[in-house]
Amino acid sequence: MDYFPVFLDVRNRPCLVVGGGEVATRKAGLLLKSGARVTLVAPALCDSAGQLVERGEVLHVPARFSPGHLRGMVLVIAATDDAAVNEEVSVAANALHLPVNVVDSPQLCSFIVPSIVDRSPVVVAIGSSGKAPVLARLLRTRLEGLIPQAYGKLAALAGAFREQAKQRFADVESRRRFWENVFEGPIAEMVFSGREAAARHALLDVLNRGEGKVRGAGQVYLVGAGPGNPDLLTFRALRLMQKADVVVYDHLVGDGILDLVRRDAQRIYAGKQAGNHALPQGEINVLLERLAREGKCVVRLKGGDPFVFGRGGEELEALADAGIPFEVVPGITAACGVSSYAGIPLTHRDHAQSVTFVTGHLKEGSVNLDWEALVRPHQTVVIYMGVGALAQICERLVAHGMAPALPAAMVERGTTSDQRVVTATVGTLAQEAARAGIEPPALAIIGEVVSLRKRLNWLGEAQAAREEAKRGAAEIAA
Ligand code: SAH
Repeated sequence: MDYFPVFLDVRNRPCLVVGGGEVATRKAGLLLKSGARVTLVAPALCDSAGQLVERGEVLHVPARFSPGHLRGMVLVIAATDDAAVNEEVSVAANALHLPVNVVDSPQLCSFIVPSIVDRSPVVVAIGSSGKAPVLARLLRTRLEGLIPQAYGKLAALAGAFREQAKQRFADVESRRRFWENVFEGPIAEMVFSGREAAARHALLDVLNRGEGKVRGAGQVYLVGAGPGNPDLLTFRALRLMQKADVVVYDHLVGDGILDLVRRDAQRIYAGKQAGNHALPQGEINVLLERLAREGKCVVRLKGGDPFVFGRGGEELEALADAGIPFEVVPGITAACGVSSYAGIPLTHRDHAQSVTFVTGHLKEGSVNLDWEALVRPHQTVVIYMGVGALAQICERLVAHGMAPALPAAMVERGTTSDQRVVTATVGTLAQEAARAGIEPPALAIIGEVVSLRKRLNWLGEAQAAREEAKRGAAEIAA
């Protein structure tokens, strides 16, 4: 190691920042966050530094730096754009054995400032020994995604119970096991989803029972996996997938997403395709309950958002009846993912003031929808599960007064590398979709907003070429 890593206690201690620009202001801000008393030395201040002074958060000495300014300081940061001043600060501070940092000049520093991930009281510091600060910053960004925002709250909760846990679990080994269970189990997840009171209760309960293990039924997490592109998972979904003992997934959850599940986790396919239920709903409910009763961390993974045409509500009702604890993690629903990747805004001030999601699922051979409501102008209609009944749906819409020339689109496997988009009008959509061989999962978007795709299709030419090739192949096959 080139440097000795430490966390310095500067609370209520005087620290000096030399410089009055944006960089100096940022450094002052960081010191303030750590509770330091900050003095800025600079002949002039930029706006944001001026505001810090006005708010009384820092002291300002309006002067060029001189060694006298170091008196009483415990730490110095030089952030001026004048190399001579920076060097002067470094020399003067070193003469007094004061820790000194000169921004972007490692050779003038006695300490360097790491990139940080702040989940106070937990703080992760990343340094590259001054060799590659950008690399350290990139690593930081990765860690930001891995560490839940509420990690600090979890640490604070643990801090509050630290003494009690020490008394409860006298030997180091059982204490370690206890804390590991807290940090990796349902109690931590309660904190992450904002249920701090429940977490506190659960923690107290375990302490009172004096067991190292958080007992009882497992937990079911109903997790939305988004529309298919693994990049569109939420951080929370990913974390739970990497923690699950068992993952019960349906057919909309693609391989790319399943690859991200913890390797040792059991995977159970509960797929659902129109008319081809791998497991009837009742059996899925029983399965989830059984797995949870075995004490497992169960992730029920669903395409899109679990509460949008996902039967998530039904599964949770069954769990609630059985007294199994559960949490829900939202996902990007197909309508939102698909519209973004197709360059079709769902609302637009000039075209659509509302958007309606409906299911085009056939029941006994026909679709029953509120047609009057759907044909009203200035809205966008998104139809889930509408491939089979598309012709019927478009016909009914026109019969109820929708203009046959209204723009409409069909998007197959939106957001994935296989995405295909067919644009047409309500009058021609069914025919065009059939001609292109569109298959589920696909979503119909109907409304003036579809015309915006011409200008907003950011996926661009590569995608268009791919679509064209596939369309050609479909035509030859037909
Ligand atoms: N809960 C899911 C919807 C389940 S219903 C969600 O919130 O997205 C299944 C229907 O969703 C499919 O028939 C299709 O209409 C739509 N769908 C899901 N993923 C899709 C995708 N990647 N592209 C287009 N449509 C999709």
